[in-house]
Amino acid sequence: MKRILPVSLVAALCTVFIMLSACGDVSTLQPAVESAIESVAEVVATEPAAEPTEELAAETTEEQAAEHTTEAHWSYEDETGPEHWATLSTGHPDCAGNHQSPIDLTVAGAQDLANLVFQYQPSAITIVNNGHTVQVSYDSGSSIELDGQRYNLQQFHFHAPSEHTINGQPAAAELHLVHEVDSGSVSELLPAGSRAVVGVLIQAGVENLALQPVWDNLYAANATPQPVDGQVNAADMLPAVQTTYRYAGSLTTPPCTQNVAWNVMTEPIQMSPEQLSAFTKLMGVDTNRPVQPLNDRQLAVDSTP
Ligand SMILES: [Zn+2]
Repeated sequence: MKRILPVSLVAALCTVFIMLSACGDVSTLQPAVESAIESVAEVVATEPAAEPTEELAAETTEEQAAEHTTEAHWSYEDETGPEHWATLSTGHPDCAGNHQSPIDLTVAGAQDLANLVFQYQPSAITIVNNGHTVQVSYDSGSSIELDGQRYNLQQFHFHAPSEHTINGQPAAAELHLVHEVDSGSVSELLPAGSRAVVGVLIQAGVENLALQPVWDNLYAANATPQPVDGQVNAADMLPAVQTTYRYAGSLTTPPCTQNVAWNVMTEPIQMSPEQLSAFTKLMGVDTNRPVQPLNDRQLAVDSTP
């Protein structure tokens, strides 16, 4: 957005210049020139005041949220869409990595994996619409245990259609619960900042009461995270059967950072068609990154509830 300012300035100054050179009589044009200069001054005075607020909010969101960044200039469409993320001027080279997400979850055989242990508590709702998704920051004190390591729940957000597919088929939407490794579980193999994401596919069906407090505030959310009335409990957003697909992947939005432990629930949850369309209408575009190649990775699926 910072680039807009010089463009406005140049345009305004060009106008002044053209007016001067076309007529050659500065004195008769003096009021018009002054008015144009005043307009420029206004632009200079007002635009910077408005822009940093958004950018600051965006940075804050990224810091808190990890899975999504609102760094300018990437989108889900056209020349700033997913196939260009790695080469955008803002630079997200990790998006061209070999271990990216999402993927198609097609797997030959099931294994007996240790289940995820969910230790979720209710949370107040602090909500933001960062332009790419609607995201709720989660109160501290909720975590999962994965292979003996603890990860703290930081935020959840949505994509529609789903990002992960099963046998090539997307679901209507997907919930991402984003966790960051607890300081007590940090090690050489699991550096500070390592993430684990729980993905839950969402099908059209019955109204989802656990998410309704968020949906009640969907259209009130803006670029600045704000607390709203109500409470959510991530435990109530999970399916009854808690087996998962697991693989090592990445954030599905720029900067596409890898070494994310992905856990996608094998069983979907439901939302009403009205809830789903409220989200898709708000976002206006599909908010799913296309599936990425598995390459040399192992995809496992748990066989035992
Ligand atoms: Zn996501």
